[in-house]
Parts: sequence; structure tokens; C-alpha cells
Amino acid sequence: AKKLGRNNAQFFTPALNERVTLRLHLESDLRHATERNELVLHFQPRIDARSGRIAGVESLVRWQHPTEGMIPPVQFIPLAEESGLIIEIGAWIIDAACAQHQHWRKQGVGPMPISINLSALQLRDANLPTILSQAIARHAVPAAQIELELTESLLMDNVDDILLVLNSLKALGFSLSIDDFGTGYSSLNYLYRFPIDKLKIDRSFIQNIHTSADNLAVTRAIIGLGHTLGLEVVAEGVELASDVQVLQDAGCDELQGYHFSRPLPAAQFAEWLVAHRE
Ligand code: C2E
Ligand code: CA
Ligand code: CA
Ligand code: CA
Repeated sequence: AKKLGRNNAQFFTPALNERVTLRLHLESDLRHATERNELVLHFQPRIDARSGRIAGVESLVRWQHPTEGMIPPVQFIPLAEESGLIIEIGAWIIDAACAQHQHWRKQGVGPMPISINLSALQLRDANLPTILSQAIARHAVPAAQIELELTESLLMDNVDDILLVLNSLKALGFSLSIDDFGTGYSSLNYLYRFPIDKLKIDRSFIQNIHTSADNLAVTRAIIGLGHTLGLEVVAEGVELASDVQVLQDAGCDELQGYHFSRPLPAAQFAEWLVAHRE
């Protein structure tokens, strides 16, 4: 039988049912994931394109499931969103990122800004500013060291409400980035009204810049647009050394991707930092 978690004796089912059953198990297991300490953050550096120095680090959550192994966020964040658990899980992620930032600072690593991905439901939760404020207070992290990554589609529904939330987060001192930029539907008309600091160009553009003149042109256009609006522009999904040169020439501010490092567990990330210290 497949590993389906606890009480699995009755689940000798055909493949489809098995998948449905696994999903149900994951959903109920997810309820206990935070209290059982099964979630873990991995960290991927962002590199300053001009100096080559580390500019910051993105936190990316994983779930170490007791029987299913390491589950990537694309497999459980949607479940967490559907069930509303994302509020609790999101609060755990915020606290864990702040705790890690404090830990690194005590170790003499950094300080470097740490970014946290937020889901749409978290942004619509009236407690979000409080959750964030309490976490940075608990771990003595300046708000300016926290970057919040928001996806483009998330910003487009209910623009006026979202604007209020973003303005209050900005007033608290947090820095705001738009993630996966170029894949959503943001109208330029809204873009300049949002109090954002950064655009992260979606990796689907970056991954084709060496083969597609169109993708390179779009990437250059986004960099130009971002700079016109006074924003920093980050390229994600940088995998090739040749992309680094192209993106530097295009004026991109920061680079992130497997070429520099995969997301790593905290201890390995600290080793990476030491090895790459200028
Ligand atoms: P994202 O925020 O766009 O994160 C970047 C994803 O691209 C990460 O996948 C990262 O491992 C991957 N990546 C980085 N560099 C490269 C590269 O050079 N090539 C390729 N092919 N991939 C690269 P990951 O960690 O599996 O996360 C996937 C998505 O799950 C994230 O996309 C984000 O939307 C979501 N996610 C991750 N952590 C969190 C979290 O803490 N909270 C929330 N709400 N969502 C999260
Ligand atoms: Ca920078
Ligand atoms: Ca992100
Ligand atoms: Ca992204």
C-alpha cells in the first residue's frame, strides 16, 4: 500500500481514489503541521547585480511530512488557502523568518533583509499588521529588514481595500515587492498607486532570455518600467552564467536563482554565506 499516514489499512483503493485520499490525509495532517513542528523554512540569496554581494534572502516554506517526506509549497499552500489554515501557517512562517533573522544577526551574519511570501488570504486578514508587528517586536527585527512578497493577481481584486492594507504595512516600515511580475493582469494605472518598492520579474521570462528575443525585450521593458516608477527590479530564476551578464547589462538591480544557490536549510545557507563572503 502507499504511505497514507495513520489508520491506512482500509485504503487499498484505485489510483484516483488513492490520490483523493492522500489529499484528504494531507489536509487533516496539515492541521497539526505547525504544532508538530513539521514546517521548515529554506533560504535563497538575492544578489546585488552590480557589486555581486548578497542583497537579501527569501524564505521559502517546506513541509517535512512524517510519512510522505518533504512536500513542496505548491502542494500544500493551496490546501492551506482552501481550508483557511494559511492564516495560522502564515503566522508561523512570519515568526520563523523573524526568529531566523535575529539568530543570524546574533551569529554576526548580516543584517540582510529577509523576504516573506504572503498569500491573498493573509493580506485580507485584518490582523496581519498586528501579527507582523508582534513578530518583529518578539525578535527585535527592524521592520525595514522585512520584505513582503505579494503576487500580482492578489493585488488586483478589491484594489481600494488592498491599497489601505498596503499603506498601513508601508507605514509600519515594511518593504513591499510584487512577485511573479508579468504573469498577472496588473494595470499600470494601479501599479503606480501601490506603495511598493520592488518588482520581481517572473522566472518564466528570465528562463528564456537566451533563446527568445521577445522575452529579453519584455524583461528590458519591465526593468525600464520599474526604474521609471522608482522601483528596484529583481530577476528570479537566474540559472545560467550567461544570463547574469545579460541582466547586468539590462540594468537589473538584483538577481536570484539556482546559478547562485538553490534554497537551502538555515545551517547550509549560513555556510554558503561564509563561503561567498567578499
Ligand atoms: P515564488 O515566491 O516565486 O518562489 C520562487 C520559487 O522558484 C521557489 O520555489 C524557488 O525554489 C524556485 N526557484 C528559485 N530559483 C530558481 C531557478 O533558478 N530555477 C527554477 N526552476 N526555480 C527556481 P518553491 O520554494 O517551491 O516555492 C514555490 C512557490 O510557493 C513560491 O513561488 C511561492 O509562491 C510559494 N511559497 C513558498 N514559500 C511560501 C511561503 O512561505 N508562504 C506562501 N504564502 N507561499 C510560499
Ligand atoms: Ca538593493
Ligand atoms: Ca517569492
Ligand atoms: Ca516568484
